[in-house]
Amino acid sequence: METIVVKFGGTSLASAEQIKKAVDIIRADPARRYVVASAPGKRFSDDIKVTDLLYACYDQAAAGGDFADTLGKIEARYADIIRDLGVAFDLAAEIAVLQEHLSTAPNRDYMASRGEYLNSRIIAAYLDRPFVDPAETIFFTEAGVLDEEKTFRTLGERLAALPQAVVPGFYGVMPDGAVRTFSRGGSDITGSIVAQAVRADLYENWTDVSGMLSADPRIVEDPRVIDHITYTELRELSYMGASVLHEDAVFPVRKAGIPINIRNTNRPEDHGTMIVPWADRSVKKRVVTGVAGKKGFTSIALEKSMMNSEVGFTARLFTILAEHGIAFEHCPSGIDTISVVVNTAHLQSARDDILISIQKELEPDAMTVEDGLALIAVVGNGMVYSKGTAARIFKALADANINIRMIDQGSSELNIIVGVEEHDYEEALRAIYRAMEPLM
Ligand code: ASP
Repeated sequence: METIVVKFGGTSLASAEQIKKAVDIIRADPARRYVVASAPGKRFSDDIKVTDLLYACYDQAAAGGDFADTLGKIEARYADIIRDLGVAFDLAAEIAVLQEHLSTAPNRDYMASRGEYLNSRIIAAYLDRPFVDPAETIFFTEAGVLDEEKTFRTLGERLAALPQAVVPGFYGVMPDGAVRTFSRGGSDITGSIVAQAVRADLYENWTDVSGMLSADPRIVEDPRVIDHITYTELRELSYMGASVLHEDAVFPVRKAGIPINIRNTNRPEDHGTMIVPWADRSVKKRVVTGVAGKKGFTSIALEKSMMNSEVGFTARLFTILAEHGIAFEHCPSGIDTISVVVNTAHLQSARDDILISIQKELEPDAMTVEDGLALIAVVGNGMVYSKGTAARIFKALADANINIRMIDQGSSELNIIVGVEEHDYEEALRAIYRAMEPLM
């Protein structure tokens, strides 16, 4: 039988009403055997996520303050869920454990993890499926990174013995037995780990949007949903600011070649976005997958006559950056010119030292440093096979009277990146999106 791992995010499990939608989805397909659950998220825009309440509760307890009110709010969230689901669950006993923990030696990660722990216990009871605790099955090394070997062996064996299960997201256990969480939004990672451990055919990630959008909806009106995207395209778009999944969530399933389907719990009829290992030839030819960008870059441009014949010039430039711990984003070059584009905030601490070293060691004829650069990436692995994409981008920017400060095309032809001034960013993104829409 096919195996699907389904992960539901915080808004999908924020109330009994939402949990019922998730349960309908789970029950609609017997292949949805393993469920990974987040803590209850926001029910309305200025609601507080249970995870944030747990962090606040921990902070109060750790400072020796009164945490009763905050713990009461957490209890109330679960009490509502339990009552409205009509499930039998001894919440008082669980809250007493937290009370005791907070009054003795409170631990931040342990407290944060209780959001997914309690929600998953309740959902497991409601679904009548076994609960599997990551504190016994997902392991970190001493250095705090996932112990892949031990995790996949232990979790794989445990789940192989269970045809169905509910696993809380967001945490695992350290070698000394202490609970440790992933970074915020980390339940996505758990879902991916579970999918790899059970060798799932599909990892469904249920959230509150109908997939990944082909541009930032705060800037572009009504951008279309991306129906399928490869892991590499996703990486390019996420890096440039498009967000849909936790960054680290892609690696386990990518390694195992398992596709991810982003779906909307509130609109299960929508197909969402399918994230696949490689482009499927059967899907319609599409040149561009999405457009994304961000502000906050600095360009350091150097000019030196006969630079092209000076052996080791670029290597020394990169060494100077590396010695100061600065990664560069792009490096467009000409015959006697080269620029490096770096993240302005990262550059800040070492800025003067780097510029002095460049002057001294490389002796450029001219050096110009410009802040306030925004980068926009047009991503799509169909660009390799088609002509005229770059021309369309440049024409769109020229028509919008926007000055292009930098152009970079990766060697894989997976993306074209243009740099514009920050104050032109929004207008440039809209112009490029409009020009790319027919190619999507
Ligand atoms: N509940 C955690 C957070 O708010 C993890 C998650 O939802 O993925 O970050």
